[in-house]
Amino acid sequence: DLSGQVAVVTGSTSGIGAALAEGLAACGANVLLNGLGPQDEIERLRKRIETDHGVKARYHPANMMEADEIGGLIRYAESEFGRLDILVNNAGIQHVAPIDEFPAGKWEAILKINLTSNFHTIRNALPIMKRQGSGRIVNLASAHGLVASPFKSAYVAAKHGVLGLTKTVALEVAETGITANAICPGYVKTPLVENQIADTAKARGISEEEVVRDVMLAAQPTKRFVEYSQLVGALLFLVSDAGASCNGMHISVDGGWTAK
Ligand code: NAD
Repeated sequence: DLSGQVAVVTGSTSGIGAALAEGLAACGANVLLNGLGPQDEIERLRKRIETDHGVKARYHPANMMEADEIGGLIRYAESEFGRLDILVNNAGIQHVAPIDEFPAGKWEAILKINLTSNFHTIRNALPIMKRQGSGRIVNLASAHGLVASPFKSAYVAAKHGVLGLTKTVALEVAETGITANAICPGYVKTPLVENQIADTAKARGISEEEVVRDVMLAAQPTKRFVEYSQLVGALLFLVSDAGASCNGMHISVDGGWTAK
């Protein structure tokens, strides 16, 4: 039961982040949504979470490329709700291309959104969590935080970085009642994944069906996409009392991908 707790989920207007925010709300947490997208759709999601789960849901448009906007997101959580219990760093983008053709601007954007934004949310959230003497930080890394695939240099580098950051924060907060952990999903059929099917087909010179069968699901021994509910389950464990001694670790939810 997370009643009375406050959660910030970055990149929660779509895909995994939206599912995680809703999973926390279903347990009673008030949630601050963040992310890009059409304002009317975001407002519909916000309202639906409030009515379906009887919690307060707010939205803040901070761009995860901008340090000062990220500071504004965390300050808004505190001013709106008076506390911050759960920080989920989820916002992320992908770009698929061979490294010698990889646009430098895409590299910069992926490092900023997928890695550096976590540094900024965490450094702004920690003073609040330390004052409370409690807090849970959960970073969405990836199977690509543990192993690589070709044509995803920036993403793989950023996600390996997320795991390094997670461990470092865990050591720094170990005596404060705060924990920092990561979740490493395998392939989840979100808009982010749908959009890279065509690019991967081009980069590898194969059809889109072959990408799904021979690249994506071939990596995953279960041959099934990971479900949102399975990521929600991992998150709820990490933020629960039972998760209090888990610190600086990751939970792989990848159908056995990284067991190989
Ligand atoms: P998605 O594209 O469905 O959602 C990404 C979210 O991030 C959206 O809400 C988007 O608006 C937001 N976002 C993107 N750029 C932003 C910016 N500059 N500022 C603020 N918000 C921004 O993607 P998803 O698949 O749900 O991915 C969510 C996280 O899970 C990412 O970190 C991704 O790397 C990770 N992940 C996904 C998979 C997968 O298979 N889908 C696997 C492993 C890890």
